[in-house]
Amino acid sequence: MVDHVSLYRAPTTVADGDAVADWLHERIDASVAVRDRFLECYRIEGLPEWFAEARVRSPYERATGTTMLGTIRYEERALEHPEREGGVLYDGHQIQQALNAALPETESELEHAHVVLLDRAIGTWGEHDGRWHKRVAVLGQPAIVSVPGLYEAPAKPEAYYREKQTHALLSGDVPPREVLENQVGGEFLIEADPRTTDALKGYVLAAYHYLETGEAFCENDGCRLFDAHYHEDLIAAQLREPEFCKEHAALYGD
Ligand SMILES: [Zn+2]
Repeated sequence: MVDHVSLYRAPTTVADGDAVADWLHERIDASVAVRDRFLECYRIEGLPEWFAEARVRSPYERATGTTMLGTIRYEERALEHPEREGGVLYDGHQIQQALNAALPETESELEHAHVVLLDRAIGTWGEHDGRWHKRVAVLGQPAIVSVPGLYEAPAKPEAYYREKQTHALLSGDVPPREVLENQVGGEFLIEADPRTTDALKGYVLAAYHYLETGEAFCENDGCRLFDAHYHEDLIAAQLREPEFCKEHAALYGD
């Protein structure tokens, strides 16, 4: 039984950890506390090396990591100045292991759920198709909820990719993302989207739900515990009524 949740802020993003915590607290039977950035709270030795080893090298290559000195220096800088990093994809399970090792022993019991809002993109390897997939969340202890993952992991509407291709054909380059995002109809979340905090709530609840019940995401696409593969589904699951499927409304609904 989870009796306490610690939620860690991601101050370089627009995600409002306190608002997520308030929402969560109203729905579960456990205390919820908000803490500062995880990597600020627990800075164990060797973290830059963990991050360097967890770097995805290529979308189709299972092996991760590089021990090049420059990479470790980059990771050291990224830990010190998180606002400066970006564009790297990490193996979510390896990052989870690193953060688990960083948790103080007195707090690593599963009664105390740790949920880390992270300002990095994470992925998991798809055994079935031999490639990396970006993820919004990797459940477990601690659970990682990636804020960039919210924008990057689900597939965007088809019009988005069409527009991108058309632009590339006409001008020979990739259009700036802002341009693309303004030109495409259909619904998707863009970086620093004002709906970010709201859209993250279900993933944070899923982190709690997993430790509490052993169940991962919900199969029902109208439920906040659904792990959407498309932006339109993510918006429907997280931002539209009803909040939950019948089964999960009984647990977390009003
Ligand atoms: Zn459900």
